This record gives sequence, C-alpha cells and structure tokens, in this order.
Amino acid sequence: MKELGLPPEILACLFDLDGVVTKTAVVHAAAWKETFDAFLREREGAGYRPFDSAADYDEYVDGRPRADGVRTFLASRGIELPEGTPDDPPDAQTVNGVGNRKNQLVLEKIRTEGVQPYDGTLRYIEAVRAAGLKTAIVSSSANTLDVLRSIDAEHLFDTRIDGVVARERALPGKPHPDTFLAAARDLGVTAEQATVFEDALAGMDAGRSGHFGYVVGVDRVGQSDALYAHGADVVVKDLAELLTAPGGAA
Ligand SMILES: [Mg+2]
Repeated sequence: MKELGLPPEILACLFDLDGVVTKTAVVHAAAWKETFDAFLREREGAGYRPFDSAADYDEYVDGRPRADGVRTFLASRGIELPEGTPDDPPDAQTVNGVGNRKNQLVLEKIRTEGVQPYDGTLRYIEAVRAAGLKTAIVSSSANTLDVLRSIDAEHLFDTRIDGVVARERALPGKPHPDTFLAAARDLGVTAEQATVFEDALAGMDAGRSGHFGYVVGVDRVGQSDALYAHGADVVVKDLAELLTAPGGAA
C-alpha cells in the first residue's frame, strides 16, 4: 500500500473527526477555555490560573469524551464536582453541567462560523476508499453526524462510532481503545489490520493500547514530539503527505 503510506497488511482506516477531518479542534479548545476560565474565576476569584488552551487542552481534554475532559482537567487543579446527569442544565455545578455549558458554546460557534474540512484529509479518504480499504469515523463528539453532514462527508465512512454510539454501547472513550476496536469490528478487520488517524494525545494512547497495526499522528499545532512519545508510528502535518510519501511506510 505504498501509494497510501501504509503498511501492506492494513485493510481499514479509522479517522478521528475534530482536528483530523475538520478544523473544529480549535473551536473545541476555545469553548473549553471560555467555560473553564469562567468556572475558575467564579470559584477562585480574580487570581485564578486560566486554562491553558495548548498544554491543559492537550493533556487533559483533547480527544476525551466531554464529561471525562471536565473531570480530568478539574482533577488536575484539585477540584472534584458531583457527576450530575447528562440532562443537567448548563449552569449546574456538576461535571455534566460544565460539559453541557461547553457543548452549548461549541454549537454556537459552529452555527455562526461553520465547519471547514481539511481538504488533504478528504483527498486521502477518497484515495483509501478507491484502493478498496474500509473507513470509519471514530470521535468522542456527540455532534459527529451533524458536523459530517454540514461538510457533506457522511458517505465517506462505512461506519461511525461517535459519542452517541459509544453511550448506547457503553464503550469507554479515548484514551481507552474501545471505540476504535468497535469500529474495526464493525468493519470486519482485526486491530492489526487497522490504522488509527488521530491528532490528540489521548487518541495516540488509544492506538497504542489497542495494538493497532499502524498509528498516524496528525500534527496541527506543533506537537510532533509528544505525538511520537504517545505512540505514533509516523507524524504528518497533513494526510495528503502520505499520498506522496516516497516509498511509503512499508
Ligand atoms: Mg481530535
């Protein structure tokens, strides 16, 4: 599979959404920062330490299901909130309430700013499908379907494991490998026959612990070293690089 930059045993490609297919990782980072800074300011006063949308986002939030992101970041600041329930209003002082506040901001931003795809990714997906490989979208986002429809990309994926499906099937989210493993199973391939495409450190961890055949780190923010440290086999800035990679990865 040299023209795709993948080892020859690979039969399926599992793509993360935000930051890999669409330019929405920055929207999420901005919404998290707004949410957490308002929360911390109210709790700790003007001297609060703001959410770092690079370091804190990469380490504690990016790629994880929403509630896990809230819990993990707040724990890093020594804060523990009651879980609440997914139906909590966005002003509830619970893990789910804070998460819902963030989701409201994301949806607002997407509605006003729209969603942009990465053209290199769309070209790459079309190439792997033309080569007969199966494809899946694997995202923690509960808004995956809406986002895919907004860029008319729903038809590019043979299966979808997103926040909604993960909840239905009780699958733990990234950094656990379960959502990627479920996608491979849906496509009728083993983990060794599947490649994970991810921009988040939590996604790299999932790729490594799930023993996937190949893990491609997508570096949109200059964190190539961290992606390698978390298990990437190769790191690219744009998936189109794989189409032209001399000799590919095999
Ligand atoms: Mg991502």
